[in-house]
Amino acid sequence: MKRALIRTLSALLALLLLCGCTGARAPTPTPSPTPGVSASPQPSVTSTSDPTQPSASPAVSNSAPATTAPSAAVTHTAAPQPVATPRPAPTSAPVHHHSYTSVVTPPSCTTQGYTTYTCACGAHYQDHVAAALGHSFGAWVTIVVPTASSSGTKVRTCTRCGAQESATISPVFDPNSVASQVVNLVNQERAKAGLSPLTAVGNLHSYAQTRSTELVSVFDHVRPDGSNPLTSVFNLGSYSTAGENIAMGYSSAQTVMDGWMNSPGHRANILNANFTSIGVGCYNYNGVLYWTQIFAG
Ligand SMILES: [Zn+2]
Ligand SMILES: [Zn+2]
Repeated sequence: MKRALIRTLSALLALLLLCGCTGARAPTPTPSPTPGVSASPQPSVTSTSDPTQPSASPAVSNSAPATTAPSAAVTHTAAPQPVATPRPAPTSAPVHHHSYTSVVTPPSCTTQGYTTYTCACGAHYQDHVAAALGHSFGAWVTIVVPTASSSGTKVRTCTRCGAQESATISPVFDPNSVASQVVNLVNQERAKAGLSPLTAVGNLHSYAQTRSTELVSVFDHVRPDGSNPLTSVFNLGSYSTAGENIAMGYSSAQTVMDGWMNSPGHRANILNANFTSIGVGCYNYNGVLYWTQIFAG
């Protein structure tokens, strides 16, 4: 009877252990040896109720199938790995040999030139940088004509891009207009002094202009050839008296007249009652004005 009981018990144990084996599938993800160990406690609990050795043998035999179960579990857990391996492949997919197409941007007057290389993937870079060309200006064209008292404006245009550059034209030096301004100021001073006005004479103007050019080399009442400048005046008309005022560095008729009027000797010429005629010269040399007044009477 006892043996029969033991047999049925051991058969039950074997069933339990088998069940434990199938139940052990759940923990299969955990390392292979553990499922067998964790499954065995359950039957071992039942076996402890029966301390007899024979019961232990099925438990040992049970451990064998338990080892087979993990082997299947290993193949199962191994499966995800091949799935995971394709993942690195997508990350390396964008890596390719760039195929660049080039677009040349030529240099302009003010901007650099370059070539842009672009791949279909979006990668791009620039190379072959060329310096800006700089403008290619044509000739200056006068837009505002300068006068003796006002500056003018000139413009030149780039033949390549059309950019324009403007510049100021200095007032035109007009000896005749400057001379007439001085003559007017002289006669104003003479009028204040109750004297008759002087008459502007063409050949005296010409001679005064010549004298102004001579002052660049010899700033004195001596001509470059050493002669007396007044001697020449008498050859220009039937004059019995003559005088000469010179100045340099004054920039206008008014300032040079102020300078002369503040100098007794020059003032005396301007206000000489014996003079009837006048010539005025003004010569611009390197931006410096050389002035001459020739008086005759
Ligand atoms: Zn590319
Ligand atoms: Zn240009």
